[in-house]
Amino acid sequence: RKLLVIGSGGREHAISKKLLQSPLVEAVYCLPGNAGMIIDGIQLVDGNESDQEFIVSFCQDNEISWVFVGPEVPLIDGLVDFLGTKGIKAFGPKKNAAIIEGSKDFAKQLMVKYDIPTANYETFTNRDDAIHYLSTQELPIVIKADGLAAGKGVVIAETIEEAIQAVDDNLLNNIFDSEEPKIVIEEFLVGKEFSLLSFVGKSFVYPMVAAKDHKAIFDGDKGPNTGGMGVYSPVPYVTDSVYQESLSKIVYPTVDAMKKEGRDFQGILYTGLILTKDGPKVIEYNARFGDPETQVLLERLETDLVEVIESIFDDKSTKVSWKDTGFDLGVVVSAKGYPNSYEKGKPLNIDATNKAVNIFFAGVASKNDSLISNGGRVFMAESSGATLEKARGKVYGWLSEQQLTDFYYRTDIGK
Ligand code: ATP
Repeated sequence: RKLLVIGSGGREHAISKKLLQSPLVEAVYCLPGNAGMIIDGIQLVDGNESDQEFIVSFCQDNEISWVFVGPEVPLIDGLVDFLGTKGIKAFGPKKNAAIIEGSKDFAKQLMVKYDIPTANYETFTNRDDAIHYLSTQELPIVIKADGLAAGKGVVIAETIEEAIQAVDDNLLNNIFDSEEPKIVIEEFLVGKEFSLLSFVGKSFVYPMVAAKDHKAIFDGDKGPNTGGMGVYSPVPYVTDSVYQESLSKIVYPTVDAMKKEGRDFQGILYTGLILTKDGPKVIEYNARFGDPETQVLLERLETDLVEVIESIFDDKSTKVSWKDTGFDLGVVVSAKGYPNSYEKGKPLNIDATNKAVNIFFAGVASKNDSLISNGGRVFMAESSGATLEKARGKVYGWLSEQQLTDFYYRTDIGK
């Protein structure tokens, strides 16, 4: 089979690499991919992930068996639907199901209707109504832009001034340029967070192991949020009973709810959860694999990823197995200054052939046959060990041997 992966980050590097490991696969193309992927034999396709016509003609010209759509934007824009109308199979939700990530208001209404535990909330389009509601709520309070905002749409306001500012940014100044600015104001939940992702098909749900990502830029989970600076799996505080409760009260009811709404979800359902004193609750849904979670989760997946996905296409049951010992851990290396402004074009002098770690490239480009940085998150170093300490030791041991003075990484992932 020849497969096409849409996207360009570390997540797509991990997906493409895993697909290419399958004995069923002769080639994996990634559109647009990144220059670091070539090291693993992935072929890059020069194109734009929002150019649906181009993707169709590439698939037809290259006899692509099916497409894996990595990022949320093409899913929410209906790429899977469009490919379907041209007879091309694609793994990922259709537009009417990807809305679970595309609209926070939709997601909250769904959870309330189907009794799925989440923070209390109200939705607003009117500024004065929102400000009045704020005056009746406790602090801190969470203000979320309804639509996609590349991780920047959530404000946790500690003061009423910050809360009003967030309302004004959305409903007066429309900083995210939405057609119809809308916000969700929700209760601040206290607890430990974790991610629980599942492969979802028509008749089957295969949950993955839990993972924990570190979104904040600095050690101790301080500073502004990023796309994710590190990750590990499994998560010690996600005990078997927490895991089972998350499945029975959140994951399965969500999949059923989408069916009842006539929005059958096929693809990866990502539930971002928080373990409160009243049990796990939903912080967010994503309609796709998370980055950085994917890089560790796919390392823990023992079953051939191609078999899992094709069993979902064919609606046939399969056994999905995971490493049941040890831990996987990944540390993201970013540009200095990220998530604010940063420089690109720094040479990457790393030993990517070392067998102790896996390297998943993200914001990189090629210049004179060498890799240079080309984005905020540049690459992830990932490894496994019998304990979290051992996995961490391997990753940080390797990082300490590299020339990374132009770059930045957190020193406390998994601590
Ligand atoms: P992503 O970029 O991952 O899609 P997002 O922009 O959709 O993120 P959320 O995941 O909804 O935003 O929120 C970002 C972070 O804000 C969460 O990981 C969590 O730490 C915090 N957060 C969001 N909602 C709440 C809440 N109700 N209570 C406490 N913390 C929250």
